[in-house]
Amino acid sequence: MLPIGSTIGILGGGQLGRMLSVAASRLGFKCHIFEPSKNPPAGETSARLTTACYEDIEALKGFAKSVDVVTFEFENVPVEALDVIESIVRISPNRRALRISQDRLFEKEFLNSLDLKTAPYHKVEDSSDIKNALTMFQLPSILKTRKFGYDGKGQIKIDSEKKAAEVIKNFSKSEYILEGLINFSKEISVIAARNSDGQIACFDPGENIHTDGVLDTTTVPSKLPRHIITDAILLTSKILEELNYIGVLGVELFVLDNELIVNEIAPRVHNSGHWTQNGCVIDQFEQHIRAISGWPLGDGRRYMNVIMKNLLGNDILDVSNLIKESKAAIHLYGKEEIKPKRKMGHINHLSEKS
Ligand code: AMP
Repeated sequence: MLPIGSTIGILGGGQLGRMLSVAASRLGFKCHIFEPSKNPPAGETSARLTTACYEDIEALKGFAKSVDVVTFEFENVPVEALDVIESIVRISPNRRALRISQDRLFEKEFLNSLDLKTAPYHKVEDSSDIKNALTMFQLPSILKTRKFGYDGKGQIKIDSEKKAAEVIKNFSKSEYILEGLINFSKEISVIAARNSDGQIACFDPGENIHTDGVLDTTTVPSKLPRHIITDAILLTSKILEELNYIGVLGVELFVLDNELIVNEIAPRVHNSGHWTQNGCVIDQFEQHIRAISGWPLGDGRRYMNVIMKNLLGNDILDVSNLIKESKAAIHLYGKEEIKPKRKMGHINHLSEKS
């Protein structure tokens, strides 16, 4: 068990790092953030901040030596940086989980190896691969970068023969997958945690609405049949066990008829788990800190109905009105610059549990 007063290193200084550091400080830990960009949201709430790039070996070593465990708020940390850090201090969640989630192809192969369903996919490296793959799936399908894609970025929807011809013509050799489009009825996600004793705690699956590839709202309770909820929780536990996972994991799922299809796994706290901050006694951020610190996990039970709404871009300009609602908990990330679709904060709208 990590003693109180220990320092937790967090790779990435965005809003997830900020909320992790707030949870950690409530438990008596200190946080040291490693982040390339200046004035990151997590810098304001942490004891220490290193501003350096992931290629700066000396900065990485200094960071690793100053902390008792390292975790991360995003999955695209370069593996070379992890090698440097791991030679000095433990990283949690583990490298395998990170490696799988960094690459959509590995992720799909891993999920299928557990007998979990994914969208049909085909590896694509050049334009002849796309041609072949398109003959296997009906349009529309989605071309996705294998790495570094998030919030719908790095994706091209191919919804017509014309678009297909255009994509094939302009394709330059690179690592992609082509995915068949799933005609889902709902998108849900399960946020769950596992600690080093193998204890698992799952939060209620939330129902997600995305707009232009970016999460807009998460609603709990979801309007899902009981057996789907149970299946979603069981499959998440299976992933946690298989990865010998320590920390919080997010699993994004499509619901199609009575079936669950896994879209993505995120080896970290997740935007669709923000509702737990006001819906549960122990939220996803504290749960993650507990798990990586070798503490017992908290109870994942939900005490309120919650609609979590992201504040994107100019939405934040309306805060003076939004704060008038007395059952809305506002969480702002302290970002100075407003950009379209940039996540500036979120609101948890609460009502009595049903
Ligand atoms: P992703 O970056 O893979 O999480 O995709 C962002 C969003 O695009 C998802 O939340 C879905 O709304 C949509 N999407 C991604 N892949 C598919 C698919 N194969 N079928 C249908 N919708 C998808």
